[in-house]
Amino acid sequence: MILACTYITRRCPRNCAYCDASKVRKEEELDWLDWIRVNGILRELGVNFNLILGNESWLLGKKLKRIMEVNTVPYALYTTCPPELFITYRDDFFREGSIDNLSCGLDYSLSHLQKSHSSDIEKKSINAWQAFEYVRETHPFVDCQGTVTINRQNFKQLP
Ligand code: SF4
Repeated sequence: MILACTYITRRCPRNCAYCDASKVRKEEELDWLDWIRVNGILRELGVNFNLILGNESWLLGKKLKRIMEVNTVPYALYTTCPPELFITYRDDFFREGSIDNLSCGLDYSLSHLQKSHSSDIEKKSINAWQAFEYVRETHPFVDCQGTVTINRQNFKQLP
């Protein structure tokens, strides 16, 4: 099996204190037509699975769907599902069945988030839970994957 891991954009609309992804400029990146060519190259190489790690893929808006329409390489899409982007594009994107797997950062449990929900990572976890809820209710055949980054704050929740 040959796996690829791609960053379809390095940009991100969030502004987490420990990260400078919000400073990346669009002009420095491949455009959506380039990404269609990239996917064609991945296919030619025999890639079986493409993990699209972000940073925030929904920033490509409707172009993301166009890219994936010609992507026959099975893939998972990692996203932090910022509500202003996810709510705008999700129905169109999921309705067409162009996504196999939604992957989100899920560093905190729901029980923790009921008590504390103001840090950058907590807000991301809330948006991830909301996105999974949407997918499970409206597109139950799409796989959901929670990616947990274990750290000093959340390791006690592992059990
Ligand atoms: S969500 Fe991730 S990529 Fe975006 S600013 Fe926060 S840490 Fe950086």
